[in-house]
Amino acid sequence: MAQASFDLVVIGSGPGGYVAAIRAAQLGLNVACIEQEAALGGTCLRIGCIPSKALLEASELFYEAKKSFSSFGIKLSGVELDLAKMLQKKDSVVRANTQGVAFLFKKHKITRYVGHGRIAGPGRVLVSGENEAELQAKHILIATGSKVAPLRGVEMDGKLIGSSTEALAYEAVPKHLVVIGAGYIGLEMGSVWSRLGSKVTVLEYLDRILPGMDSELAAEAKKILERQGLRFQLGARVTGAKPSNGGVRVEIADAEPVECDRVLVAVGRVPNTDELGLDSIGLALDERGRIPVDEHFRTAKAGVYAIGDVIKGPMLAHKASEEGIACVEHIVTGYGHVNYDAIPGVVYTNPEVASVGKTEDELKEAGIPFKKGVFPFSANGRARALGQIEGRAKFLADAKTDRLLGVHIIGPRAGDLIAEATVAIEFAASAEDVARTSHAHPTLAEVMKEAALAAEGRPIHI
Ligand code: NAD
Repeated sequence: MAQASFDLVVIGSGPGGYVAAIRAAQLGLNVACIEQEAALGGTCLRIGCIPSKALLEASELFYEAKKSFSSFGIKLSGVELDLAKMLQKKDSVVRANTQGVAFLFKKHKITRYVGHGRIAGPGRVLVSGENEAELQAKHILIATGSKVAPLRGVEMDGKLIGSSTEALAYEAVPKHLVVIGAGYIGLEMGSVWSRLGSKVTVLEYLDRILPGMDSELAAEAKKILERQGLRFQLGARVTGAKPSNGGVRVEIADAEPVECDRVLVAVGRVPNTDELGLDSIGLALDERGRIPVDEHFRTAKAGVYAIGDVIKGPMLAHKASEEGIACVEHIVTGYGHVNYDAIPGVVYTNPEVASVGKTEDELKEAGIPFKKGVFPFSANGRARALGQIEGRAKFLADAKTDRLLGVHIIGPRAGDLIAEATVAIEFAASAEDVARTSHAHPTLAEVMKEAALAAEGRPIHI
């Protein structure tokens, strides 16, 4: 068996692992990264963020061509879906991204091992699979991400009943798609298939959608998505799903069952610690199967670190990347920090829903007095020109100090607009700081300035 020794061995090449590997190489470490899949990039690049965005963009173009081009004076006839081509395009986007990571690995002289990584004792990692090897490591970084959470009573056969992985590649548009869970995946993939022609029913256990997001915005998102054709059944606890008459029958506690031809299970994800050899170093998981770490991502075992979906916190690609960078910077320089108050969250529906900092619900619950400034996209010239006037931006600032505490947006390109709010929160800005900053006209970003002005009680355009 091949043997080699490294300063850092990273297990997993998702946005946590690959970014950490690159940063460590920049800092002069000799780095290896073990990935069991043929392509680098993890769930996000292969079967998550990137392919879903490719399909969201493509399905939106199709939907717009059919529904709204005429309002711009563009006459089209015979608009047709070529699903196979759309899926090919998505695959080519994924390929370009995963190959990009492989290029970056070469550029930074990171040694890539194709295979399953397992810790075999302190400072020892075994690779099984294509590149069998025994590695010695000064530092081991676990960045193995998460996997689809199962749902009791619902057996995923990968055909009629599956996860987002299957929903990224249905070979035909389902007539009736039932989505279980109104979280990020449920709403994004539900939107894709609804735009392409499916009837979509979203079954959600709670009495609201998008738990964790600002409840006012979540309620608005629900209304807008309903207008687009999505159906929501809230308070629906799914107890089973079984193939029936060539389709699927979904059982719901205290409600009528729903018949459909495809089911997407999107009830969350769980940390992936399968066959990692944590026993060999006596590393225990917490009650939710996560690897406990301190503020520098150190586990209870010296020289072993963990980041991303496998530890506590939101399961977001960019959160994992920040942790990866902070972790290796701390290893090399003694400094490294993640500001969890400034990690944005974005749902890529249309309009997008984006959030950073504290929600209004959280501030109320914590008894923190706050000012609120809201500005609607309907009063923004650029949004009007785009024909996308639904939604608003909401600024929440400390009532006494004016420090920005949270920003929540539903509207066109909210996912891009939230970056400004994230920088403001990172820099401990006040709402007035944003309000006094010049914003180019005519841009959607003016909504941010106006919402900040509204928090000061002096918006101009409303
Ligand atoms: P999620 O946690 O966002 O939502 C799951 C939803 O399922 C919740 O609303 C929950 O109440 C509901 N649910 C749970 N059990 C149920 C049941 N028995 N019946 C009906 N509803 C039930 O999870 P997800 O959408 O599966 O996404 C998984 C992870 O992936 C999330 O942590 C998310 O952060 C991440 N993700 C992020 C993005 C993004 O950043 N845009 C996109 C996709 C996924």
